[in-house]
Amino acid sequence: MANDTNKFQAIISHCKEYGFIFPSSEIYDGLQAVYDYGQMGSELKKNIKDYWWKSMTQLEDNIVGIDAAIFMHPTTWKASGHVDNFNDPMIDNKDSKKRYRVDHLIEGYVDQLMEEENILLEKSGKEYKETGPYAGISEEEANKIFHDRFAQAGGFEIREKWNSILKSMDALLAKDDFAGLKTLIEENKIKCAISGTCNWTDIRQFNLMFSTEFGSTVSSDDEDNKVYLRPETAQGIFVNFLNVQKTGRMKIPFGIAQIGKAFRNEIVARQFVFRMREFEQMEMQFFIRPGTQKEWYEKWKATRLEWHKSLGMPAEKYRFHDHVKLAHYADAACDIEFEFPIGFKELEGIHSRTDFDLKQHQEYSKKKMQYFDNDVDPATGKPYGNYIPYVIETSIGLDRMFLAVISQAYEEQDLSTADKQDSRVVLKFPAKLAPIKLAILPLTKKDGLPEIAEQIMKDCKPHFRCFYEEKDSIGKRYRRMDALGTPFCVTVDHQTKEDNTVTIRHRDSMEQERVPIEKLKEIVLNAIS
Ligand code: ATP
Repeated sequence: MANDTNKFQAIISHCKEYGFIFPSSEIYDGLQAVYDYGQMGSELKKNIKDYWWKSMTQLEDNIVGIDAAIFMHPTTWKASGHVDNFNDPMIDNKDSKKRYRVDHLIEGYVDQLMEEENILLEKSGKEYKETGPYAGISEEEANKIFHDRFAQAGGFEIREKWNSILKSMDALLAKDDFAGLKTLIEENKIKCAISGTCNWTDIRQFNLMFSTEFGSTVSSDDEDNKVYLRPETAQGIFVNFLNVQKTGRMKIPFGIAQIGKAFRNEIVARQFVFRMREFEQMEMQFFIRPGTQKEWYEKWKATRLEWHKSLGMPAEKYRFHDHVKLAHYADAACDIEFEFPIGFKELEGIHSRTDFDLKQHQEYSKKKMQYFDNDVDPATGKPYGNYIPYVIETSIGLDRMFLAVISQAYEEQDLSTADKQDSRVVLKFPAKLAPIKLAILPLTKKDGLPEIAEQIMKDCKPHFRCFYEEKDSIGKRYRRMDALGTPFCVTVDHQTKEDNTVTIRHRDSMEQERVPIEKLKEIVLNAIS
């Protein structure tokens, strides 16, 4: 099996070769950190979106969805704090002129140290295996040998070093201590990947919002009237909070969900669809009574993790990471991290946003953002009355979820036997997310088999996405469907003409069974429901 960096590259190539993701405007050499979803990718993405949307707006009784515009009144972004605070600390290398996000530069160095540690672990482990069990000594002794070899090679120092760098970085970021961060970079001799030097500028803040002009009345240098491309979808929910609450007669606690594009002028935009300049978010803001935020925060942390697991994603690939430095609007925040082939990274954020956003919009718009709660407060025996609700936010990047799903699904399998070399690449998507659910394959192009296959296609396609193919050998067609992640293939052969049965092949086990044609729909529907 390819190592993880290779696996990541293999996934990127696979995405392109099989129509999942293409670089944007590729004929002009692409646009950095912008991608287009192809015929397979757009289906997979839509299925992820639908799964999230359904879990929020259909399975939860008190969450409704909206679709707000990307452009918003410019004051929105002053009120939300994005004009002043949506910055990342950046540092430039004076020789290469390359700009880095400070945390990414340091984390990149930490990744290198971890890699070094892994190599030593592997080496000491290999030696342990050779000296240990095979030499007939006890496990305890063998472990000691392993430990000593790792220590001798300096493994523990390396581990201690990266741990301490990460700790210092978190502490310095939390204090916005830019001088301290620069010293950390210099002391560890962290180099620019292009120039290979440590010749760094001071650290500065850089705003991540894209701006544009609106109509003909606004000039681009009129700072007050700049129109921004939203950097998050959340504000579209906040400004519509009362519209939805009143017209939907919503009672607190309730949520508003939204899926939509967001734009950030990421400086270090890399790692495929993990970090893009144009991406999609699936966000839900849950409005609650002040004082109840702790319990709702915990509830949404658990609910969201369950959602991931309900897709069959393995629990050990997830972990929570509490924020050390809280954003200006939050009183608690964590990331749900997923173990991508590039390591554990943020997939989703859960934020307790207090009443910050609604309060700010009330102040800037001079419109009341209050809710009247006529439930009785047991402490006073009176209704809770008017208040600005608190908010718990769940925010997941659709593109990152796409990457998580495809990374988890991607497998290179060696199927060689004693007399034949063979292999396959299979995408083991959960059936409900697979772009194509059923491939219908007549064994030959004649003898009336295509007609039967076309009839199956006609019966099944109103219910789920099917794909018909009669070209190439059946083995090749199976492999192609494996590479697209199609969970079921049916083959129509000569026996079908006699007894109305077909062979259904299961993608993961490659097992085949004979089933009556009329059972097909039920089998697939059961798997995707
Ligand atoms: P990061 O620390 O990785 O920059 P963030 O903390 O700024 O992310 P949030 O503002 O919490 O991200 O956004 C919510 C979610 O949106 C993230 O968990 C992530 O899945 C997604 N997201 C954010 N920025 C990008 C991006 N540039 N490309 C793709 N997805 C993104």
